[in-house]
Amino acid sequence: MDKTEQQFDVLILGAGPAGTSCALKLAETNLKVALIDKSQFPRDKICGDALSWDVCNQLSDLSETLQGSFLEMSETAPTKGLHVITEDNDKFYIPFRQKGETKEMHICKRQDFDNLLFDEVKKKGNIHIIENFTAKKVGRLSDGIQLIGKEKTLQGKIIIGADGAHSIVAKQLLDWKLEREHYSAGLRVYYENIKPIDEGSSMEFYILDDLLPGYFWIFPLPNNTANVGLGVLSSIVSEKKLNLREILQKAINSSPVLQERFKDAKASETIKGHGLTLGSKKRKISGERFLLLGDAASLIDPLSGEGVGNAIRSGRVAGEHIKKCFEKNNFSDHFNQAYDKEIYRLMWKELKFSRWVQMFFSRPWLMKFAIRKIGNNRVVQKLLTDSYDEHNKDQVFWSPKFLWNFLFK
Ligand SMILES: Cc1cc2nc3c(=O)[nH]c(=O)nc-3n(C[C@H](O)[C@H](O)[C@H](O)COP(=O)(O)OP(=O)(O)OC[C@H]3O[C@@H](n4cnc5c(N)ncnc54)[C@H](O)[C@@H]3O)c2cc1C
Repeated sequence: MDKTEQQFDVLILGAGPAGTSCALKLAETNLKVALIDKSQFPRDKICGDALSWDVCNQLSDLSETLQGSFLEMSETAPTKGLHVITEDNDKFYIPFRQKGETKEMHICKRQDFDNLLFDEVKKKGNIHIIENFTAKKVGRLSDGIQLIGKEKTLQGKIIIGADGAHSIVAKQLLDWKLEREHYSAGLRVYYENIKPIDEGSSMEFYILDDLLPGYFWIFPLPNNTANVGLGVLSSIVSEKKLNLREILQKAINSSPVLQERFKDAKASETIKGHGLTLGSKKRKISGERFLLLGDAASLIDPLSGEGVGNAIRSGRVAGEHIKKCFEKNNFSDHFNQAYDKEIYRLMWKELKFSRWVQMFFSRPWLMKFAIRKIGNNRVVQKLLTDSYDEHNKDQVFWSPKFLWNFLFK
């Protein structure tokens, strides 16, 4: 092997939440693991920066002190609830309170959150970290896998594709193609000095006519800053030939429900865009000598656009599965199907339900009708609060109490 080649047991491509979670799980073993990324950390990631209670909860499984470190970060802003508002000013509010407890959503720039996880991997001391390595090609060897970059080739027994929405592992080893009905386009722009909506710190979703059935958001960050953005299915973007940058700018400048709020506000960057790989379809997410994680495996909730929780969960599941691969010395397609099964056992029920709600609201009149109904009904608002962050939301929505109040009250 020459100087430009390096040999590992496990190659983890991508050091976002999926890759770092998997690395933290494997730090408990004696395996020789490489965590590889094209960027140098801290690095930016286009996102809404909204991190659910589920994300926060999972941190304690990755490392003992991680949840505490996250909650103490000055870059993190806890939020108390969410407003949903239409352009006709119909609205409702859901506080993040569950069975008497507050389950806050935290808004934290992904640059800071991802760097917290990345630093935790560094602290473990036994994971080889390789930054500034852009993987160009994944190749198969008779007894392993190789990852080819510009100046170096890395070899391993198994590769973990945690390389996000444009995963080269998914494209090259599974021949994945973009399917517009299972993919969303998203924009983000950081703002300063937006007039607050209320005394507390709340998330805001706006249902804008130009964007239906997508939505526009304002998520409050510390120091009078906010993450502003929008998301809409790519099939709608191409069908309606939407110019999302223009829609975002028009909403800020002239929407009756937003104009006043942005009067003295200033964008601190140009508008940036990135795709969301939605988990609205079951897929094959592993094969001989590879597993796909997070966005590379299309695990984003199709309704809320949240993907960080499932990225971390997939990293944890993959970590446990890889330990078994080495114990049994088995990296076969058949053996790795247990990974797919476990991922969908944990996630499919909720992803399927979100897909169903997403489809239901693809009729704009129905979405507006629902918002008006919820806005006028405290029982339904309370049930929605209770369902927040439950893994069996469908049970709340199909309960006679919810249906009766939603349809007839
Ligand atoms: C506009 C927008 C808003 C969103 N809002 C939210 C939100 O509010 N809350 C939420 O939970 N989720 C949100 N998401 C989804 C969330 O960002 C993703 O689900 C999450 O980042 C997935 O983590 P990951 O580790 O799988 O991938 P990523 O975070 O994308 O990490 C992938 C890593 O792989 C590296 N990489 C990629 N290709 C290569 C290569 N060829 N060689 C080397 N390295 C490579 C990248 O540099 C990156 O560090 C949003 C997404 C978008 C686009």
